[in-house]
Amino acid sequence: MSERASDRESSPGGAAGAGAPAPSAAPRVLVFTATYNERDNIEELVRRVRAVDAAFDLLIVDDDSPDGTGTVLDALVVREPRLTVIHRPRKLGLGSAHKLAMLHAIRAGYDTLVTMDADLSHSPEYLPKLLAELERHDFVIGSRYVGGARTDYTGYRLAVSRLANWSARALLGIRLHEFTNAYRAYRVAALRRVDISKIRAQGYSFFLESLFAISRSGLSCAEIPIHFQDRKAGQSKIPRLEILWGMKKLLKLVAVRAFRRGTHSQQSGRLDASCAACHSPYVIEQGGDVAPAKREQPASHDRRACDQQVIACLHCGALSLVP
Ligand SMILES: [Zn+2]
Repeated sequence: MSERASDRESSPGGAAGAGAPAPSAAPRVLVFTATYNERDNIEELVRRVRAVDAAFDLLIVDDDSPDGTGTVLDALVVREPRLTVIHRPRKLGLGSAHKLAMLHAIRAGYDTLVTMDADLSHSPEYLPKLLAELERHDFVIGSRYVGGARTDYTGYRLAVSRLANWSARALLGIRLHEFTNAYRAYRVAALRRVDISKIRAQGYSFFLESLFAISRSGLSCAEIPIHFQDRKAGQSKIPRLEILWGMKKLLKLVAVRAFRRGTHSQQSGRLDASCAACHSPYVIEQGGDVAPAKREQPASHDRRACDQQVIACLHCGALSLVP
């Protein structure tokens, strides 16, 4: 089923807010990807995921791709009853799409969330291996830099990627070799302990920052080797300046690690609010920010005016003020 930004949530595995399945039921798995100009890859990806296990549900968030990916998805959703498509009105970024998927997995009562790229660089055939490893851990990442792994990256891209991941391992004290890959599996019960509203990165830095938040929240992490293939069709969308944002983000996280105690633990998302603009339930607190009313009001003012919060919509990008 397909939905536009103004529509309510609807998913094949159960309505938002549905409870967890009975203990004897098979684990419910949601496979997520975000698309922007993936018209030539997305049908093959869906077909290959369904070939691995027909019981997997799929969620695809499209950021109004100019190449018509949204139209391809609308045709696909008619044939694929386990596919949910969310059309966002504009390019809102990879980070917010992944946060939306995390909220969706939590609220719809899934046991497992798997995220992957839509360009076929992540072979769906690794899904069983990821899920097997997830039986022993809260979080598993498909790694390009652990023994037995391969990557099709060469030259400058390989050097930058290796340096970024080596730096993250050295500076963040997390015993993984891969931090920036989007091929991941989350145990949803453990994901509830991560406050995703504190993850601020909207672009590719989201993957580094979210892994840091996961580790700080006490989730056990593991990696499995994968062969990272170069995209089959279309062009890479990683901006040239992304390496700079990534390094800036890494330095910020190093500072957080050095100076801030505590964890990122907290229940994810607001369960009782919706977007004032599009009525979507996919809203989170705005990066821990406080509404201007709260910052500027002196203590003697009406307390009701002070108890307002800014929420950000992951569906349309609007900010709302809620009590
Ligand atoms: Zn909205």
